[in-house]
Amino acid sequence: MLCPVCNGFNVYQGTCSSCGGELTDWGRSSDWTGPYAPYEPVFQNAVQSASSIQLEAVCCHVFYCAACDQSSEVFITQI
Ligand SMILES: [Zn+2]
Ligand SMILES: [Zn+2]
Repeated sequence: MLCPVCNGFNVYQGTCSSCGGELTDWGRSSDWTGPYAPYEPVFQNAVQSASSIQLEAVCCHVFYCAACDQSSEVFITQI
């Protein structure tokens, strides 16, 4: 499984849901949240079998809107 955005096959062109501006790709959320990722324990407690499948099938990217100073997570489907 490869993430097309991480591997340069595809460029995700997201727009901000608030202002419609262009979003900046901050890369994979796991790369910059590191061991302090607040989501992982919740994820594992929720639905264990389903989450392991989902984590392999998607690559979680973080996109940032400079105008709104907000970041949002986008799940990229891996190929
Ligand atoms: Zn990716
Ligand atoms: Zn915005």
